[in-house]
Amino acid sequence: MPLMMSVSGVRGIIGESMTPALAADLGAAFGSHLGGGRVIIGRDSRPSGDMVLSSLIGGLLSTGCSVVDLGVVTTPGTAMMIAELGGVGGIVITASHNPIQWNGIKFLTREGYAPPPDVAEQIFARHRNKDVRLVDVDRIGRLTRDDSTVQRHVARVLKTVDVEAIRRRKIKVVLDSVNGAGGAEGRKLLEDLGCTVVHVNGEPTGRFAHTPEPTAENLTGLCDDVRKHAADIGFAQDPDADRLAIVDNTGRYIGEEYTIVLAAKQVLSKTPGPAAVNLSTSRMIDDLAAKSGTIVHRTAVGEAHVARTIRDKKCVIGGEGNGGIIDPRVGLVRDSLVGMALTLNLLADDPRPLNTIVDELPRYTMVKLKYEMERPKVDAWLVATRKMAANIGAKLNDADGIRLDWPEGWVHVRPSNTEPIARVISEAKDAPTANALAQRVADLRS
Ligand code: MG
Repeated sequence: MPLMMSVSGVRGIIGESMTPALAADLGAAFGSHLGGGRVIIGRDSRPSGDMVLSSLIGGLLSTGCSVVDLGVVTTPGTAMMIAELGGVGGIVITASHNPIQWNGIKFLTREGYAPPPDVAEQIFARHRNKDVRLVDVDRIGRLTRDDSTVQRHVARVLKTVDVEAIRRRKIKVVLDSVNGAGGAEGRKLLEDLGCTVVHVNGEPTGRFAHTPEPTAENLTGLCDDVRKHAADIGFAQDPDADRLAIVDNTGRYIGEEYTIVLAAKQVLSKTPGPAAVNLSTSRMIDDLAAKSGTIVHRTAVGEAHVARTIRDKKCVIGGEGNGGIIDPRVGLVRDSLVGMALTLNLLADDPRPLNTIVDELPRYTMVKLKYEMERPKVDAWLVATRKMAANIGAKLNDADGIRLDWPEGWVHVRPSNTEPIARVISEAKDAPTANALAQRVADLRS
């Protein structure tokens, strides 16, 4: 399996493409790009974390950067600590929801999110061209350790919710941390909110108890645990704890698309303002925003695009339909702790059980299709889709592929950034309409 390099970082397989030499070289390339200063590094719980970390540190120190090692912490925790500790940038060592064989290196800017594509390319170009600047012994960097991420991250999240109201509700929660990095931060947050916590897979061993992507088929154990313990809610984090999936009080997996909807419902009820989500995220949030008299900005797919729009358009909440919630009061990175706190605040404000609250949300059906296809063919398909939009008067957004909106639903067709595939996603009030919309665009392939 080759190394994967993209805007969102570098991922490879341990023993094959993710080697100590590579990590050291990338550390030196990133350090040369920064030109010195403090770099904040966190890692998820994978057994290969120490190997990748040690190598990265060597590369960074050789260029005159100093390094603060945060230990095993979440991706949002690392991002937040850059500003807390006066860093000029950061790195997360994680392969997110990929299996244990993988690990990855994700660069973060001073503001705590992925660098824009042109900056990421500058860093990779330095690596390719060996354009690194090693310093002499007088300017070599130093390594220190900081153990305050859990406490500082939780403190920041607690400031965004009504802690007393949540404590009064005495909520029983099952938290599944999948043996990733989210256990310590997640557990402290829930305990500080007065919840009774049943913590499963809480040890950060990196030996994931189930396939780590927080999707329905991987969380049947959590659904069973919620029923068994008669809990009010179940939460599932992915290994680096930037994504959150929710199980309701009946043990029903409610779907990652609902995580952003529940968080937005809570934030918009207190502080109405614009929201930002990517073009493939459900229309449910548009309905909520309309009710609050505000708007939703649609961005290209990818966390950094959403983060920059939140910052530039002064949004109060944002995220992606894969369970990624971004609250700018905490940071410009997807954060499972933010999602948990906001959802619990929603329960504290509404005496009804979660399944009742979820059932009254607007309901749509999504259809997702995937085609193996080389880029020129995808481009021809996009031209045809654009032509059709003009003929039938659909609203068009071409920030990332093409999205067409009709009153009854929408379709989004886009090429993948990392693989030779194209995706079609559609959404409508019912399955036949959603299927028909997706098929209508799919039929335009040459
Ligand atoms: Mg993740």
